[in-house]
Amino acid sequence: DAIEVEETEVKVDVDIKDYRGVWVFIEQRDKHIAGVALELVSEGRKLADELGVELAGVVLGEDVEDLAKDVFAYGADKVYLVDGPVFKDYRTDPYTDVIVDMINEYKPEIVLFGATNNGRDFAARIAVRVHAGLTADCTELSIDPETRELWQTRPAFGGNIMATIICPQHRPQMATVRPKVMKKAEPDYNKTGEIVRVQSDVKEEDISTKIQEIVEHAVKTLNLAEADIIVSGGRGIGGPENYHLIEELANALNGAAGASRAAVDAGWVPHYRQVGQTGKTVAPKIYVACGISGAIQHLAGMQTSDVIIAINKDPEAPIFKVATYGIVGDLHKVVPILTKKFQEL
Ligand code: FAD
Repeated sequence: DAIEVEETEVKVDVDIKDYRGVWVFIEQRDKHIAGVALELVSEGRKLADELGVELAGVVLGEDVEDLAKDVFAYGADKVYLVDGPVFKDYRTDPYTDVIVDMINEYKPEIVLFGATNNGRDFAARIAVRVHAGLTADCTELSIDPETRELWQTRPAFGGNIMATIICPQHRPQMATVRPKVMKKAEPDYNKTGEIVRVQSDVKEEDISTKIQEIVEHAVKTLNLAEADIIVSGGRGIGGPENYHLIEELANALNGAAGASRAAVDAGWVPHYRQVGQTGKTVAPKIYVACGISGAIQHLAGMQTSDVIIAINKDPEAPIFKVATYGIVGDLHKVVPILTKKFQEL
């Protein structure tokens, strides 16, 4: 039987001139602001200045008023604060409901989210509800001063081209932005701003999702996104039994251990350690790539690192084109020597 597809037409009844201001969603967990939120406040400051409008941070949580200090220090003029037990931990429904109501009431022209699990989860829902578009996973944002349009740039077609997307007819213009691609400004804790307390009528009994327990990840290693030094292993490690070589070097350097997708897809290393286009974007001070060929999708996640050290037995491996220092050799021999040397320091 043929499936009948109903065509839906989204009515565009917004007057884009009614929308003003730049918003950044301030993701927090246990009252710690995610790094990407402060990166976006720093970037949002530049966009707001170009547009000549206010920059606001949107903070949801329980007992989180203190976080406004950080949001102001990184450049926001205003904080919309939604404070209450319902918002203590992130849940899709209450967070979506309250932000949709706020967008409809205050009409910002730009709303930015980190491309984190939570940001990816609810930014798209919000976009649908307010009849706006959403550009996911942006790596660059800029303003067209004539039209006030936000130019939202992101990798497309497997990272082979960069696509710039605009949203000429709808507001707000919404984007998720990858962690670590925007630079954090120097905070100025003398800066203050206005706190707008938003009352929400979302009630616990109306929310179908209940959080039973939050389980911390059992492995206590440094988080990739926060580490200054990352040592990653690729297919060249040869099997899961050798990943300890990578972890030991990472520990000796007080850094985090990462991996290429080949190592993750083979089931040798968990996905949360994957660096690259479909993993994490990182920009540490030092990135050590061991047995990684340097495919474009891997480079997309690490090539802005300050210093790249590549260890590969193939002198023609493409990773050497982006490496600051290269060691041609068998990682099974080279890595333990380096680990021993750094442990001795
Ligand atoms: P390989 O390309 O197989 O390279 C292994 C390297 O190890 C070789 O250079 C070899 O010379 C070297 N080597 C072997 N043995 C030794 C040894 N004993 N000592 C030293 N060196 C040795 N990849 C990612 O990493 N991250 C992503 O997020 C990602 N996203 C993708 C998204 C899409 C849409 C697609 C199509 C691909 C994506 N990939 C990603 C996959 C990517 O194209 C590559 O396949 C992958 O990065 C290869 O991983 P690798 O370098 O570990 O393996």
